[in-house]
Amino acid sequence: MQDSTALRLKTSGEMSTDQRGCRFCGEPLEHIVVDLGLSPLCETLTHRDQLNKPEVFYPLRVYVCGHCWLVQVHEHVGGEEIFSDYAYFSSYSSTWLDHAAKYADMITDRLSLDAGSLVIELASNDGYLLKNFVAKQIPCLGIEPAANVAQVAIDMGIPVDVSFFGVETAKRLVSEGKRADLLIGNNCLAHVPDLNDFVGGMKIVLADDGVITIEFPNLLNTLRENQFDTIYQEHYCYHSVFTLEKVFAHHGMRLFDVEHIPTHGGSLRIYVAHDDDANKPVTAAVVEQRRQEIDGGLTDLATFQAFAQRVKETKWRLLEFLIAARREGKQVVGYGAPGKGNTMLNYCGIREDLIDFTVDRNPIKQGAYLVGSRIPIHAPEMIDQVKPDYVLILPWNLRDEIVHQLAHIRDWGGQFVVAIPELEIIR
Ligand SMILES: [Zn+2]
Repeated sequence: MQDSTALRLKTSGEMSTDQRGCRFCGEPLEHIVVDLGLSPLCETLTHRDQLNKPEVFYPLRVYVCGHCWLVQVHEHVGGEEIFSDYAYFSSYSSTWLDHAAKYADMITDRLSLDAGSLVIELASNDGYLLKNFVAKQIPCLGIEPAANVAQVAIDMGIPVDVSFFGVETAKRLVSEGKRADLLIGNNCLAHVPDLNDFVGGMKIVLADDGVITIEFPNLLNTLRENQFDTIYQEHYCYHSVFTLEKVFAHHGMRLFDVEHIPTHGGSLRIYVAHDDDANKPVTAAVVEQRRQEIDGGLTDLATFQAFAQRVKETKWRLLEFLIAARREGKQVVGYGAPGKGNTMLNYCGIREDLIDFTVDRNPIKQGAYLVGSRIPIHAPEMIDQVKPDYVLILPWNLRDEIVHQLAHIRDWGGQFVVAIPELEIIR
């Protein structure tokens, strides 16, 4: 193993401070990919009445398992505490809604779903996806642990089971006569604290000839595109096809297809079936993706070492830009209040002295403050009132949508800025 300062390999003495092993294979976690310092829970909000109170910060260290290569963070807070009252509502992004509608059309066609099928979505959020199946009169059921978010879907007429998903919930669903012809897990796999219990539950609730589709940010892309801000306490794992093939195989299932999709800065959609489902041969796309991941270095510690260096460089460059703007008397505000923004701002130590405020379309966030940095969140109209020189786009995955929506800031000479994959002023 090569010596390096960026990739600190913990000594056996340090290991004794943390006995938790890999979330999938249980092997000791010896390799730190990147250390983002201390971070609060990134998908929470700070409210005005909390401003005079202390806030809890947790170590945000990413590990890679040297045995199965699963990239993961330790959990400091249980899923129940994080997800019972969750501030993330999918329906506030039009890009996301379009993506969901297109997926529903595609998969209905591909699997010939009809009124006799059952679609189950894990982490169904506010019903942004299942409403498309309701419109097609295909029976569906959402499983969603956050009662406040689930209620929005229920109010739209979407059946939702308010619970955490795992083996126990899966057995109860089967006992109620529910097995999924299509089981959807979009962007939920990262949030699962007990990966084996979750995937074990999928095996149980999947109909004999059913299909699971799962979308997740492409780890290869996360590393290449420097998307370190997608790392936060609430995201326990960062997935690749290479590792997920092992995970599903362990539970008697197999990946038979994979597609590249543009969401979240480059995601993968995998298709999974029971091991003994002979009607679903493995496509060349799976073989190709696995090869790309190995060639791309996902099973090589040096790849993670280079990533750690880029993360630091990003922090330095963003701070240089913000400080220079301040010294020139320019005003910088943010756009968006996503979890990823909180990772970046807290890692970089950016507060109101460098970014006056941010704005968000979600009314639940307006009037509150970004967790940790305590930068105030206003309605988007505030940008028109103060006419800032720069708008730093925090959800860079939606940059095209936001640049289009706010094109009029150019009327007063305003410019857009993104920090990832590297600092760029969009002219
Ligand atoms: Zn492992």
